[in-house]
Amino acid sequence: YEGKRGATKIVTYAPAIAPAALSPLVLQRELAEAIAEDQLFVEYQPKVLLATGRTVGVEALVRWQHPQRGRMSPDEFIPVAERSPLIDQLTAWVVDRALRDCAAWQQAGADWTLSVNVSARNLTAPDVVQRAVEATRRYGVDPERLILELTETMTPFDDEVLRRTVVDLQQAGIRVSLDDFGAGVTNLAQLRAIPVAEIKIDRQFVDRLDREPASEAVVASIIDLGHRLGCTVTAEGVESAEVAERLAAYGCDLGQGYYWQRPTAWRELLAQEVLTAAQPT
Ligand code: C2E
Ligand code: MG
Ligand code: MG
Ligand code: MG
Repeated sequence: YEGKRGATKIVTYAPAIAPAALSPLVLQRELAEAIAEDQLFVEYQPKVLLATGRTVGVEALVRWQHPQRGRMSPDEFIPVAERSPLIDQLTAWVVDRALRDCAAWQQAGADWTLSVNVSARNLTAPDVVQRAVEATRRYGVDPERLILELTETMTPFDDEVLRRTVVDLQQAGIRVSLDDFGAGVTNLAQLRAIPVAEIKIDRQFVDRLDREPASEAVVASIIDLGHRLGCTVTAEGVESAEVAERLAAYGCDLGQGYYWQRPTAWRELLAQEVLTAAQPT
């Protein structure tokens, strides 16, 4: 059980429900070790300008190389981390690592923006804006390069505190994006209340865009809505040329997906970019 302001009280846990699943307590303890012992790492997925195919930014996606269980995906540990103060440590770690990488790719000549996933709980923690700005300074990265993606969350949060934080972030030059729009925690009331710079269309709509009229209607409407609000609209989960072309035809700004690139090491992305740029046209 979680209080509105995030004070965690663990009441009961019934292992009978999922005998194979890890206990959240074990996972939380191991995750704390993982952060301390550098078992986490970050992969990056390009954000592509649909009109030209050029990479304009990358999204940081955390992974956990567990000493016994092997590589774990964020869906396996983020929801558990979100139920404890660990999520703040984890986000701080990812932001730090990703900004360090961002400084390195800037040095190598790439001008990509950096998107980092944060949960609503992170954005309602005290000093979050100051700490984000300090992190950009630490690595000499312009705050305008940083975008925070508000991801799905299972934990309740205070809407007014969130709104205030987003306004303060925006004033500091840091943009906020609504992730998984249409499916996640974000809704139209939030879109009205908080000044977001980007909306990311959830991949369940993008995926069926070319074969399901209802998904097509949802996607076209979100693009229109986003543009009317002055937002950049990004489609996630683009897996085919057909979908990429349709999105471009609808005026969607950016795309992400396996069609272009799976998440990988940033150096790998940079090497590919250099190869593409070197190709004769
Ligand atoms: P997300 O932010 O919506 O990220 C997109 C997810 O879709 C990523 O999964 C990505 O690998 C995957 N994806 C990208 N392109 C495609 C595609 O074309 N097809 C399909 N089927 N999938 C695609 P991933 O890396 O497993 O991350 C899952 C979620 O975990 C993320 O969803 C985000 O909500 C959360 N997450 C990841 N890293 C972090 C983090 O550092 N902090 C927090 N709080 N959450 C994170
Ligand atoms: Mg995201
Ligand atoms: Mg998403
Ligand atoms: Mg997601």
